[in-house]
Amino acid sequence: MRKGLLMVVSGPSGTGKGTVCSELLRETPELAYSISATTRAPREGEVDGKNYYFLTKERFEKIIAEGGFLEYANVYGNYYGTPLAKIEERRAAGQDILLEIDIQGALNVMEKCPDGLFVFLLPPSIEELERRLRGRGSETEESLARRMGSARKEIAIGKRYQYVVVNDTVAHAVATIKEIITAEHCRVDRNQHLFEELERE
Ligand code: 5GP
Repeated sequence: MRKGLLMVVSGPSGTGKGTVCSELLRETPELAYSISATTRAPREGEVDGKNYYFLTKERFEKIIAEGGFLEYANVYGNYYGTPLAKIEERRAAGQDILLEIDIQGALNVMEKCPDGLFVFLLPPSIEELERRLRGRGSETEESLARRMGSARKEIAIGKRYQYVVVNDTVAHAVATIKEIITAEHCRVDRNQHLFEELERE
């Protein structure tokens, strides 16, 4: 059986990765979302155990100490982490998994999982990125300036990923990522079992 993909989608804050990933998941039922843990407070409408596992700082730090995260990062003063639980078992059973995480976290996964699939989402332009961040309405001027500053630095790190997708429209970005998934499913190094099976006959 082909091992499931560990697909990491990240990009600068405000690029729209949340929207792209939600739509990708909706259109791709065979892709499982890895629910992250965080110490930030839930936003309006967010559900514990669906959007995130909302944890206290103490609980989060306990899980770090127990080695329970594949990766974790401190983003804008809050912890975010990917629970290790069952990721490798699910992949061994052929399940593709999506991680929507920040860039620091993605770099850590690159170290730990060299067979991961790393997709970087870019905004069409810096102006559009700022417009999208303002459009959220949840940012103060201070946090907006902070996010724009880090976005510029983050864009440069995108060069270390394997794939880059411009989020010009959600539909186009999602369609492109689905094509990347198909291409990755067809890679020879991910399909040694097919050759082995035929060679055995
Ligand atoms: P938000 O607070 O807007 O939901 O997320 C803030 C940032 O944290 C986003 O860039 C999001 O991708 C990132 N993030 C969410 N979950 C994780 C995680 O498990 N690990 C890491 N490293 N970043 C995460």
